[in-house]
Order: sequence, then C-alpha cells, then structure tokens
Amino acid sequence: MEKQPHKLPKYLRVDPICINKINQLHPSLITHALDIYYDCRKNCIPLHILWTKRTYEEQDLLYKFGRTLPGNMLTTKRGGYSPHNYGLAIDFCFEKNGKYLLYDDIETYPRYKNFWMDIVFRFESLGWTSGWRWPSFEPGHIENLLGKSILEHKNEQHKKNWIDGFGNL
Ligand SMILES: [Zn+2]
Repeated sequence: MEKQPHKLPKYLRVDPICINKINQLHPSLITHALDIYYDCRKNCIPLHILWTKRTYEEQDLLYKFGRTLPGNMLTTKRGGYSPHNYGLAIDFCFEKNGKYLLYDDIETYPRYKNFWMDIVFRFESLGWTSGWRWPSFEPGHIENLLGKSILEHKNEQHKKNWIDGFGNL
C-alpha cells in the first residue's frame, strides 16, 4: 500500500476496505481499479468502492429489495446474471467524513460532478462500460465483461464449480 502523508484529511486516505474489495475483482481488472483508486485519492477525489464481487446468494438477496422485501429496487439481476457475480463490475460512490455520497447527492455540485465523470471516462478509456450511459441510468456502476457475454461467464463458473466439486470427493 502506498504511503499517505499524515496531513491528509481522513476521508482522503487510502481505505483498506476499498483495497480489499478491489482485490476481489477478476485478476485482469484489479490493476485498472487500483490505479484509478490511488490516483483519485492523490488528487483529493473521495472515491469509495461500495461493491465489487457479490456471491449468487448476495445477489439474490439484493434482488428481493423492492420486490418481496420493502425498500427501493437495488438491482435488475438475479444471482448468476450480474457481472458482479464474476468480479467484473464495481459500484462506486464518494465518501466524505464517513458519509456516502451517491450521484444524486453530488449531481448539482459541478466540482464533484466533474470528479465523477473523470472516473467514468477513465474506466471507459480502459475498455469498461458505464451505467451512466444506460437508459436505466446506473451512474455508479461500471463493468468490464472482458469480451464475453454474461452467459459465457456463467457457464465457465458452472464448469469450474463442477470440476472443483470432483476435487473434493
Ligand atoms: Zn453494480
């Protein structure tokens, strides 16, 4: 981990929880995310990583919100059908003084909106896709399917689980 000057306010220091989450991404994507995360912190952009990889079970639980559980809908995808299930997506926000700021919270602040867009553009320049551009508008979601479809990833994982299962016999 990089050394941080002590003078930085707490919300700009490197957060080990974020680093942990970035390290759960697909191995081909970790460097992209780490570079951007460190650069943001260096440039006083309070990037926070909310989610990277989710298990099928976590995904299914999220899917229930706004459907069979009260609250807002959090995802349109069941377990196995989200790029998060394969470590191919990041949900980010900003974090200031322990408070999470989502896109809706910062949209009207030009400086923060620019920070947000810098992050989106930087990931896009590395081949990622941003939910900011989707009709469903998910400005904090970015993903990189590494040139495959989600079903291909699902089938690969299924095969891997099946082979790993034999290893345990
Ligand atoms: Zn997401």
